[in-house]
Amino acid sequence: MVHTPASEPSLEGVVLEIQSFILGPALTNAYLIADSETNEAAVIDPSWDGPLILEAARERKWRIGHIWLTHAHFDHFGGAAAVADAINPPPPVALHPADYWLWRSGGGAQFFGYRIDPGPEPTIDLNDGQVLHLGRVRIEVRHAPGHTPGHVMFWCPEEKVLFCGDVIFRGSIGRTDLPGGEYETLIESIRQQVFSLPDDTRLLNGHGPESTVGFERLYNPFLT
Ligand SMILES: [Zn+2]
Ligand SMILES: [Zn+2]
Repeated sequence: MVHTPASEPSLEGVVLEIQSFILGPALTNAYLIADSETNEAAVIDPSWDGPLILEAARERKWRIGHIWLTHAHFDHFGGAAAVADAINPPPPVALHPADYWLWRSGGGAQFFGYRIDPGPEPTIDLNDGQVLHLGRVRIEVRHAPGHTPGHVMFWCPEEKVLFCGDVIFRGSIGRTDLPGGEYETLIESIRQQVFSLPDDTRLLNGHGPESTVGFERLYNPFLT
């Protein structure tokens, strides 16, 4: 039997609850995640329709304390304003500093013919290797530039889940033809930051169905 020292609380039984949504004009996946015991919750990419995300949190008695953005394309934070406006104090928005310029320019919304309320300015800088806490759940930030310069992914080692935004999709990769995109950089990010994780890691991405590291390692045509 293994004894856990009293100073280190056991993570046994920690469960990360995940509620996903497909929202907005680009059918962007938003994720409402929570520590199942403390009910502390975060929204990863409040893509659109903030009220729907709020309603789901209310139903589950989850308290949204964080808004974490994988990157600053408008279809990943179009619902941030509505989420933040409904909560007092508003949950802080976290973003990698290398995407601030993109956030300030509206995330490319005008380019696609949309106007959005960007919501509160990001006040938390995300950086590679940083550890975020959601109740008892540990989430590690992994910087993965290429789709945008400040793109990050959120990795939960206990649950083997990677929220990977627009870095890699099932059988595809993020586009690199938008401002700040770089194809070689994206491929390198995937090799370093995604393929270094276990094969059974779930990939919960920004668009489309989920995948796994093992599946993409074998079948992704951009990486084989
Ligand atoms: Zn994007
Ligand atoms: Zn996207």
